[in-house]
Amino acid sequence: MKKNLSAILFQTGEHHDEWYNAVSPPIYQTSNFCFPTVDAFRKAFQKEHEEPLYTRGVNPTVSVLRQKLAALEGTEDALVLSSGAAAISAAVMNQVKQGDHVLCVAHPYSWAHYLLTSYLPRFGVEHSFADARDADTFLQEVKPNTKVIYLESPNSISFVLQDLQKIAAFAKERGIITICDNSYASPLGQSPAALGIDLVLHSATKYLNGHSDTVAGVLCGSKKMIRSILASEYMTLGAICSPLEAWLILRGLRTLEVRVERSTQTCMKLFEWLRTRPEIKKIHFPHDPQNPQYDLAMRQMHHNGGLLTVELDAKSISEMEKFCNALRYFRMAVSWGGYESLQLPVCTFYLSESDQHHLPWNMIRFYFGLEDADVLREDLESAFARMKA
Ligand SMILES: *Cc1c(COP(=O)(O)O)cnc(C)c1O
Repeated sequence: MKKNLSAILFQTGEHHDEWYNAVSPPIYQTSNFCFPTVDAFRKAFQKEHEEPLYTRGVNPTVSVLRQKLAALEGTEDALVLSSGAAAISAAVMNQVKQGDHVLCVAHPYSWAHYLLTSYLPRFGVEHSFADARDADTFLQEVKPNTKVIYLESPNSISFVLQDLQKIAAFAKERGIITICDNSYASPLGQSPAALGIDLVLHSATKYLNGHSDTVAGVLCGSKKMIRSILASEYMTLGAICSPLEAWLILRGLRTLEVRVERSTQTCMKLFEWLRTRPEIKKIHFPHDPQNPQYDLAMRQMHHNGGLLTVELDAKSISEMEKFCNALRYFRMAVSWGGYESLQLPVCTFYLSESDQHHLPWNMIRFYFGLEDADVLREDLESAFARMKA
């Protein structure tokens, strides 16, 4: 794995001899590509889904990134889109037509939820959500018109997992397409395609780019599926990745292994520390030996990710606010996967303790970035002291 990873991150898709021996891939900042003869132009049209003709289709800088991402997920091909949300909608929309049904894991990423509940019903596409902790009960929700099973394992707030191999095998027998959001684990922490998942999805905004300066999405799958999405949703809806954004992600990707290693190790260290703290009521973390899904996490994932969620032993939202406001290194923001540690306090979505929300107000999701683990631990420790003061 290690040797292969170095080849992917530093060699795959790179053609230095075609780039004046430039070490860093050039940014082909061009909208169109020109041809010397009518015959060459005609041939280019025939291959517009494989070779550069217009940047809304194929661009050489984006192609380098696509090859690296496909290799990272162990799929034949990959596509890079303008956001993770664009990747979600292109993947689902490519598979469904009027009258079809999508079976989705309960509480998916919010914009996947919106796509299924508010957008696709306009086009006669049905959906249902179901708890997928037990694959057998989940699969009982499959209907005769189910075309897509949409998964997110682990979920990026509750970290609930699905048995990808079992669900994929069931779906394959029935010709149902499986899509799995792999953003939390990153391609290093989990390989859904190897477990039989058809389309692997990422918000490249998170670990893949890793510097909190770009929004992008990724789809990895067979040549046939990626070609179908490129020729349809990618070029029609036009949520493409620009050459400059692709280059930024290529630059970010060089350090993927060291960043993910650091983030996941810090997360594990602070998990071990947090579980000893009296202020913590509960920790949500796939690699917690007390997690009922721990065995599945160990079997299905190569290692943990850099996120975990805690429930604090707090009496009020105001106590939560005291703790959160006192943190100096954990910036209060959405997203994750960059260099900076983050906190997402669920009480942000509450005006008072009696409001309704599917997540409790004493919950905070933490992302562990690249800061020193001891610095982060001290930050948490001093905020705990402020909480009760
Ligand atoms: C952020 C995120 C997305 C959406 O990605 P964008 O790049 O923000 O559009 C999808 N899934 C998960 C798990 C995410 O964390």
